[in-house]
Amino acid sequence: MPDDMTLPKPLNLIAGQWLPAASGDELDVRSPLDGEVFATIAAAQPGDVDAAVKAAREAFDTGGWGALTAAERGRLMLKLSLRILEEAEPLAQLESRDTGKPMKQAHADIAACARYFEFYGGAADKVHGEVIPFMAGYNVQVVREPYGVVACIIPWNYPSQMFARALAPALAVGNSTVLKPAEDACLTCLRLAELAGEVGFPDGAINVVTGRGDVAGRALSEHPGVDFIAFTGSPEVGQMIQIAAAKNYIPCTLELGGKSPQIVFDDADIDAALPFLVGGIIANAGQTCSAGSRVLIQEGVYDKVVAGLKERFEGLEASHLSQEAALGPVISAKQKKRVEAYIDGADAPLIARGTVRDGAPEGGYYVAPALFGPVDPHSKIGQEEVFGPVLCAMTFKDEADAIRIANDTEYGLMASVWSRDGARQQRVAKKLRGGQVYINGFGAGGGIELPFGGVRKSGHGREKGFAALLELSQIKTIINKHD
Ligand code: NAD
Repeated sequence: MPDDMTLPKPLNLIAGQWLPAASGDELDVRSPLDGEVFATIAAAQPGDVDAAVKAAREAFDTGGWGALTAAERGRLMLKLSLRILEEAEPLAQLESRDTGKPMKQAHADIAACARYFEFYGGAADKVHGEVIPFMAGYNVQVVREPYGVVACIIPWNYPSQMFARALAPALAVGNSTVLKPAEDACLTCLRLAELAGEVGFPDGAINVVTGRGDVAGRALSEHPGVDFIAFTGSPEVGQMIQIAAAKNYIPCTLELGGKSPQIVFDDADIDAALPFLVGGIIANAGQTCSAGSRVLIQEGVYDKVVAGLKERFEGLEASHLSQEAALGPVISAKQKKRVEAYIDGADAPLIARGTVRDGAPEGGYYVAPALFGPVDPHSKIGQEEVFGPVLCAMTFKDEADAIRIANDTEYGLMASVWSRDGARQQRVAKKLRGGQVYINGFGAGGGIELPFGGVRKSGHGREKGFAALLELSQIKTIINKHD
């Protein structure tokens, strides 16, 4: 860590004030790079969460945020986008230290964070209603309104991107927000909220409470003053969120994870596919909800594809050398133990294992990437989300077999089809379960402009693109009988 890195203080942001948890409780933050404590955060309790929700409500009902026009909101978001780009280097340093991400990934995340505010800032005044022809003497308008207070509960894998992905569309349509970032990585979120204040966001538009999920997260999700919950994280907590939302009769979006397949047909351009097959699982050390964790390979090209994957996996090195690493450590000791338990207990042949770089700090959470195959699609490792650098190679006979295996998990988030046959590309893409399908490509979670989301255990609702603006606003029909 650079000696001059400025660390956010262990404070929550409530109504524009940076405050410690009322109880004074704090949590240590460890860097995955060496396992050392390098910062502390406030451990918000239900009382702090209550104050944050009330601040958001006030900002929405009577405060500065609710008083802005759509164009004014958009302008502020564009200012924030530029400010984030100005601060890209220190933000990326902080993100890398907090999450263990290589700097290249951290920079990409900060750029994406800025892009979210640019995209949604530009869109803020382009969310229109409509006029419906009705009976004589009536004028009917359908308008889109914000919900009110949106609670954003986000995970640790892409803190700065998730900050923007959750907040930017919510703010663009006029909601106020309370963010509960993950306790394992939330420092950039605090800094980003500070930047929002610097560029002029009114007090209470963005509130941030840090701390434990089962305390602060739970209090936020159950709070009766919240009007909408946008959650990203594990299916187990997602289910609790949905129950909490149901108890308050409010909507929620859930973005929960997956076991996303990349399908390689025998007519595919294998050389073009290989970097994406590897990158789809190695990016962010496999800790991506839409990671391509299963590669389904048609029998005739199985050996060739696996040989290419093997060669690449053997060259992969988990490293602390942030500027050059293909992958860094995983987020925590708990996550390392979890991923290694999957690797050690895998009921499939190990084809290749990468390495951990010599000299990587002993206390860091490094996991050497692993390639298994052929994996039985119904096995534990073939079905469950590992959330680490572990790739499962599977075989299939024909198109129907590929679609059956691809869809045969509880998840459905992302997929890719590798084939030169245009008709097949379309047939298969339409039959795959999930919110996004790539053809001859793969970009985990790719595209800020592109709607993204899952089905079943991958969650529901759509984030990103214009779809998120529709998701985070509601329709009101105004029927005016004018004579
Ligand atoms: P998690 O679901 O426990 O945490 C996500 C967020 O929810 C965090 O902010 C957390 O503090 C909060 N939270 C936890 N318990 C809560 C509760 N009872 N009520 C309200 N909020 C609560 O996820 P995790 O423990 O960080 O990771 C566990 C697994 O989840 C991973 O191994 C992975 O499989 C999956 N995951 C998925 C994503 C994704 O992007 N979809 C991201 C991270 C983790």
